[in-house]
Amino acid sequence: MNSACESCRSPEVTENCEACQKALCSDCVLNPEPGAFQLMPKIPSKLSHQKYCRFCFDETVQPAYEKYLENLEKAKNVNVFYKTQRKGIPLAKGTGRSKLKFTVEACPDRDETILRLAYQAAEMDYNGILDTEVSSEKVRHFGYQTSVWKGSASPAHINDYLLRLQDQQEQEFR
Ligand SMILES: [Zn+2]
Ligand SMILES: [Zn+2]
Repeated sequence: MNSACESCRSPEVTENCEACQKALCSDCVLNPEPGAFQLMPKIPSKLSHQKYCRFCFDETVQPAYEKYLENLEKAKNVNVFYKTQRKGIPLAKGTGRSKLKFTVEACPDRDETILRLAYQAAEMDYNGILDTEVSSEKVRHFGYQTSVWKGSASPAHINDYLLRLQDQQEQEFR
């Protein structure tokens, strides 16, 4: 191991950057936000470390995290249509139903299951998910009972304007 922190030259080297192996002192170790990238379908290995040097953090983690937060915001605005839904779905002009199907497993609750599906759609610039199905299963986990959730959906481009119009009309008829 190098005798000095490669960031600040402190001799108190205690750690390594898990991405590039540079020697670091404890003050120079940077950690990603807890739960960062959690909704990604598969977290790339370069983003799954816990300890980074400044260089790797700025170069890799920070831009990816900004993109992640951006997708997360989009995911929260994805229009969710369930499989049981019978009313018309206002697909964007010139688009059809996608053959893509997303699946997620081992989610802690219903909301995260849907958000994970929506995240995948947002990542690919879709603003809707169709045929959304979620289900849960009881499992024993270290002696107590808990539920694990899974779900599936297909992405779609929704015409937001028509959807709003549809919702308004529905409210007027209520
Ligand atoms: Zn240092
Ligand atoms: Zn590094």
